[in-house]
Amino acid sequence: METSMIEIFSSVQGEGPLVGCRQTFLRFAGCNLECAYCDTPGEMRPTHCRVQNSLDCKDIIFYKNPVKVDQVVLAVKRLKPSIHHAIVLTGGEPLLQSEFLKVILPLLKGSRLRVYLETNGTLTKQLESIIDMVDFIAMDIKLPGISGLFPLWDDHRKFLAAAVQKEVFIKVVVGGKTSDEEFIRAVRLVAGIADLPLIIQPVTGGRFVKPGPDRLLFLQELALEHLSDVRVIPQVHKIMYML
Ligand code: SF4
Repeated sequence: METSMIEIFSSVQGEGPLVGCRQTFLRFAGCNLECAYCDTPGEMRPTHCRVQNSLDCKDIIFYKNPVKVDQVVLAVKRLKPSIHHAIVLTGGEPLLQSEFLKVILPLLKGSRLRVYLETNGTLTKQLESIIDMVDFIAMDIKLPGISGLFPLWDDHRKFLAAAVQKEVFIKVVVGGKTSDEEFIRAVRLVAGIADLPLIIQPVTGGRFVKPGPDRLLFLQELALEHLSDVRVIPQVHKIMYML
């Protein structure tokens, strides 16, 4: 079994309520969406996967794509699993590789190594096929106004209904022009399923209008009328120049 990957590395979680936790990241290539603000576009299919070979972040080797299960397991083991909070499945959209995940996750899970899935929240069938091996789900809800995507409300609702059996947090990327209407629609979608933590993440990237502090506080206030745990958290790893 093999798949196409972009990188394997050890760093701190830069988004959401577990920000700062030391984690091992497996970044898979390919995505089923094309968000306007994407920093890892779906068409990114590198010939080689960049692999951190030890805890020295300058110690880099490259695996030729597609990479094999054994190569990924070995790479994770070389990164001292005992100090890591979880293995992060990220991308791209990692659920596109659900067949590969079914094989590799039982080999990777250990007493401290939990599995943290970062997903765009649209591939419900694929989630269901691996959900027993996942501990945390960081799910996006895509707002059409800033993602540039067609509305995905029904896909997100179906996905969240399946995901909610695990520890789930929702991330909504907002910009300076995000409307109250679509933001509230996302909040109500979540509240209609469960009172889950919601992260408001201001968009990054030069070409987007950023939401100012007043706007972020107002959106948080709106969301807190429906959900009890709403946090404003930017992409912290970018502030620290980390991967
Ligand atoms: S879902 Fe994530 S990886 Fe896919 S296009 Fe959107 S931002 Fe990029």
